[in-house]
Amino acid sequence: MARGRRNDIGIDYGAIERSKGEAVKAKIAVLAGDGVGREIVPEAVKVLKVIAEKYGHTFEFATADIGGQALDKFGVPLPNDTLTLAKQSDAVLLGAVGGPRWESLEYSLRPERALLGIREALGLYANLRPAKVYTTLVDASTLKREVIEGIDILVIRELTGGIYFGKPKGIEKLPNGQERGINTEVYSTEEVRRIAKVAFEAARKRRKKVTSVDKANVLESSELWRKVVIDVHGSYPDVELGHIYVDNAAMQLVRNPRQFDVLLCNNMFGDILSDEAAMLTGSIGMLPSASLGAKVGLFEPIHGSAPDIAGRNIANPIATIASAAMMLSYAFQLEKEAEAIEQAIVKTLDLGYRTKDIQGPGTQTVGTVEMGDAIVKNLNE
Ligand code: NAD
Repeated sequence: MARGRRNDIGIDYGAIERSKGEAVKAKIAVLAGDGVGREIVPEAVKVLKVIAEKYGHTFEFATADIGGQALDKFGVPLPNDTLTLAKQSDAVLLGAVGGPRWESLEYSLRPERALLGIREALGLYANLRPAKVYTTLVDASTLKREVIEGIDILVIRELTGGIYFGKPKGIEKLPNGQERGINTEVYSTEEVRRIAKVAFEAARKRRKKVTSVDKANVLESSELWRKVVIDVHGSYPDVELGHIYVDNAAMQLVRNPRQFDVLLCNNMFGDILSDEAAMLTGSIGMLPSASLGAKVGLFEPIHGSAPDIAGRNIANPIATIASAAMMLSYAFQLEKEAEAIEQAIVKTLDLGYRTKDIQGPGTQTVGTVEMGDAIVKNLNE
């Protein structure tokens, strides 16, 4: 399918090209993975099928193994067939990978390596994580209502550089019998430039404010990060730019999160701060993400495989269903359809449906499947 450009973040990242109103025919790679991934992904697929039927689109779903499941079957966490399927698809829907069963394996075999592998192979350098508080869930947060009411933050995390990929890396034996663990935080000008551009473009469509997170007081890689961000800002005079050290950012996120609009982060700072931002909204089970690059986009909840609750029909599927909505918007340019899913989620919450992680007084606690069913029902009404 022809690939185009979506204007609102100003980068080419493999969105399907379509004229307004034209039906979409798309192939979606479905990688449920491990733990709750196997429960929440079917709920998102259920919602996408209803969207296809309701709006006249054709979505072909092709499943493949990833993570621990793939390791058990094929001896590797990211089989070539899975990667080939992802590359040949128009978008990838991912659940989560990992679990205690595979935790003692060497790093190269761990399920989590599949995430790094697929991000690298698809060139997914921009990770977008919106953290918005649903009005009906304000009291589900551990923070006070007056702190979190109205927060609407977009964390933009660089995804293919920094300390998770930098070399040298590894654990080496020292002559004195001890060991030494090494990872390297490394960023090039171009890597910072392209992610900064995404942040400024996204801010232009929002409240026009970028806060760049770094540790420029002690890290040289952060010094370069800040220099390049300031340079890119030169082309965006209409957007306000601020800088914040990561330790202060962690503090400000719980002290006064409403001050943030777009939070621009490197790979590791974004990993940590986006989980913190997620908790402002009540539950990690609510937050979606989109990972974009030059090719196929990948859409997944921000949480992991939640082995502590897996297999019990209690996981919250909303993060994954909202990730499917991001797929419709970013990969297929189906704004109306994406909006319909978001509205169905809001309506379902307004009606009092809650999974266990967000339950509260006067609400009805439902399971994963029942939450998916309720969202489908509200899509149809
Ligand atoms: P996690 O995100 O899986 O779980 C953290 C907490 O949030 C747990 O208490 C869990 O029950 C809860 N939670 C997560 N998703 C939920 C949902 N949908 N509904 C309700 N509650 C939910 O993080 P973790 O426990 O640190 O990691 C578990 C495994 O997942 C590890 O193997 C880790 O490496 C892996 N992991 C994978 C990804 C990914 O696939 N993208 C991301 C993070 C962690």
